[in-house]
Amino acid sequence: MVDQQKGEVRPRGAHRLPPPSSAMRGRVVVAAVAAGAFVAAGSSLGTGNGTASANDEVTPLASGADASANFTAVGGDSLEVLPLARSTDSSVEYQKLAKSERLKQDRAARDAEARRPMFVSPAKGVFTSGFGGRWGTTHYGIDIANRLGTEIVAVADGEVIEAGPASGFGLWVRVQHKDGTITVYGHMDRITVKEGQKVKADQQIATMGNRGFSTGVHLHFEVWSPSGKKINPLPWLNERGVFIK
Ligand SMILES: [Zn+2]
Repeated sequence: MVDQQKGEVRPRGAHRLPPPSSAMRGRVVVAAVAAGAFVAAGSSLGTGNGTASANDEVTPLASGADASANFTAVGGDSLEVLPLARSTDSSVEYQKLAKSERLKQDRAARDAEARRPMFVSPAKGVFTSGFGGRWGTTHYGIDIANRLGTEIVAVADGEVIEAGPASGFGLWVRVQHKDGTITVYGHMDRITVKEGQKVKADQQIATMGNRGFSTGVHLHFEVWSPSGKKINPLPWLNERGVFIK
């Protein structure tokens, strides 16, 4: 689309634009690409010489070869045509395009938010131990084993309420979720979040390790109900669409 050679053969004065600062050039090109017809709309506000196609109009921005033309032909009083920072901008057409582009981006962000998983598995790996009686005591979580450094993620949106050393766990992270449930992650090698930090489901919080009371690299994962009871994480995850094999 941005073809330097093409730009060089065009006659002078036909909407040749001066070389803006490199930052501005980036913004112009991005805006032109995003808005599509923006430059064509600009033509109508210019000297009336705007017969070239939108593609051709974009070209001089990349060539930067001709500083003689008047850049204000596109946008009125300044380079501020792009981000709609000023309501005094005279380019109504461009504002419309930019607004529709903004709406499109808002919609894309909403769609992405609606599509992202609200619950995920805390780590990939091999399920090595379940919740309940084990070795004459109670195992209050589940274990998932994998290689040292394997990513551990928050199973749901929440806030990190503790991140650091803990007896037996070596290092642990505790994340509190909206309904008061707390998920606990133990034995990690490295913690990548801080206390007080908000996290999203599937966001990395640590890497798998072998610290504390652990006999091999794995994640120990617990779920504490809002009333503080340590519950079996498997059905809790299953009810939320997460199945660990
Ligand atoms: Zn465990």
